[in-house]
Amino acid sequence: MTPPEQISFRDGPRDECGVFGVFAPGSDVARLAYFALYALQHRGQESAGIATCEGGHIMTLRDLGLVSQVFDEPKLQALTGTHAIGHVRYSTTGSSAWENAQPVYRSDAREIALGHNGNLINALELHSELTARGVVLRSTSDSELIAALLSTHEAASIEDAVADVAPRLEGAFSTVVMTNDAVVAFRDGAGLRPLALGRLGDRYCVASESCAFDIIGAEFLRDVLPGEMVTLCEHGIRTRQVIESERRAFCVFEHIYFARPDSKLEGRLTQLSRRRMGEILWREAPVEADLVIAVPDSGNPAANGFSTASGIPKDDGLIKNRYVARTFIQPGQELRKHGLRMKFNPLPEIVGGKRLVVVDDSIVRGNTTRQIVSMLRDAGAAEVHMRVSAPPIRHPCHYGIDMSTTQEMIAHGRTVDEVAQELGCDSLAYLSLEGVYEAIGATRETHCDACFTGEYPLARTERAAGKFALEEPAPAVSA
Ligand code: SF4
Repeated sequence: MTPPEQISFRDGPRDECGVFGVFAPGSDVARLAYFALYALQHRGQESAGIATCEGGHIMTLRDLGLVSQVFDEPKLQALTGTHAIGHVRYSTTGSSAWENAQPVYRSDAREIALGHNGNLINALELHSELTARGVVLRSTSDSELIAALLSTHEAASIEDAVADVAPRLEGAFSTVVMTNDAVVAFRDGAGLRPLALGRLGDRYCVASESCAFDIIGAEFLRDVLPGEMVTLCEHGIRTRQVIESERRAFCVFEHIYFARPDSKLEGRLTQLSRRRMGEILWREAPVEADLVIAVPDSGNPAANGFSTASGIPKDDGLIKNRYVARTFIQPGQELRKHGLRMKFNPLPEIVGGKRLVVVDDSIVRGNTTRQIVSMLRDAGAAEVHMRVSAPPIRHPCHYGIDMSTTQEMIAHGRTVDEVAQELGCDSLAYLSLEGVYEAIGATRETHCDACFTGEYPLARTERAAGKFALEEPAPAVSA
């Protein structure tokens, strides 16, 4: 919960985590990990960490804060090695305490460091199994469960351990594991969260998103396949299918919101997918207006598409303060009514007297949108028509995204007209689910859209525990 002295500016779905791994003897692998994490910062701002391996020994440095706050030059210089993994975190299981920062380090039967993006829906069962075996867990994150299962595993190789453990994990996991001679990356059978494979000269790397490759001069090769394990080692790469799954379910929200616009998801540049969403949104929900404006920055590509398709000019009617952190010191009673202006400031000279189309990529709770509509009216807008490049969000995510509770979602239990009334706008329209799939050139059969439809692609999803489940004194296993 946000402490009382702070105000939260986050109204959208919370980001999740970002992972990176590289095997490149002779390179400054810690620095490569640092810059890759820098590019993945949007996926998690609570903590950051890097593990490197030198002479068979793993060193891990992790802390709460942004990548630029956690690491400095002396720390990077201390992290020497032939290979590295890195992680940025937004907590989806466990609180944001230091112990839950990653990479997780364990040295039971084998020494490993691990970074994980996703959420396990059978975490409580795995927790009970491990504690029954006498394994001591130091954190409350489900990622340590994976680390403990692999670190305590009796198989001779880490690859055999992963091949045995991965099929027993239920839920979403794009994972990087470091041992003393390799980086092993593996992805859940449904492929819920992204994981990309890249080449750096004659070496290889993996990352949550391909934008991490651009910053270190690596080339995007392909996505790691759902259920695939890729080993980066002295011999190059080895791959092995460790999970057979009939259902693929890549998160469609990665295309809409989470991933950076310059990342390629499923071979498609996200910026172009989002622009296409805006074009289709115009086709589905046209409106007579004078000006298209985006809710910056994430609404920009769809607003561009809407403007191009409609012929309605686009301008910057809202200026975003790029330096606002996730939470902020409470501005006090006098300044409170201006709260949102710390993040967005409308330009009366641009929006005054205009019939506006305001394009955003998603609405979860609606608090920010309501304030934006009101600010634009105060700035003289004649009409405010909201267009959203995603369907209404009505269900929680159990696969690694913190979406607020169902009751907090403004579209939950409300029609679109009722939501429009709540937001105070002249009209509101969402992109249809069909429109989303048309924009990304894909179908529902291979994707997850459960937060829009309530149809969870994985069996037994209802068993998923809450974010803080492993912090309860005695986790109970549901039958
Ligand atoms: S429920 Fe929504 S956010 Fe979660 S994985 Fe599915 S599409 Fe993505």
